[in-house]
Amino acid sequence: MIFKLIIGIVVIYFLFKWIRRGSSMIGAKSGPQKIRTTESGEELVEDPQCHAYVPVSQAIGTEIDGKKYFFCSRKCLEQYRKTG
Ligand SMILES: [Zn+2]
Repeated sequence: MIFKLIIGIVVIYFLFKWIRRGSSMIGAKSGPQKIRTTESGEELVEDPQCHAYVPVSQAIGTEIDGKKYFFCSRKCLEQYRKTG
């Protein structure tokens, strides 16, 4: 009976490990951009072109080399794509 308990603990342990690894992978996939949260709970993302902070809901999102980027305007997006 004790074996069942040990197997249960081991399974739970690996499950937690797997979940934690999964969430950190999602974090890495979100890109190199800085994200700030305001006091009102709104997420601000840094425009990598002009370095202004824009609300994620208003930012222009695009994928470059498999990474997600957010820009304050289409102009910044195009400028960033040109300069790399
Ligand atoms: Zn910008």
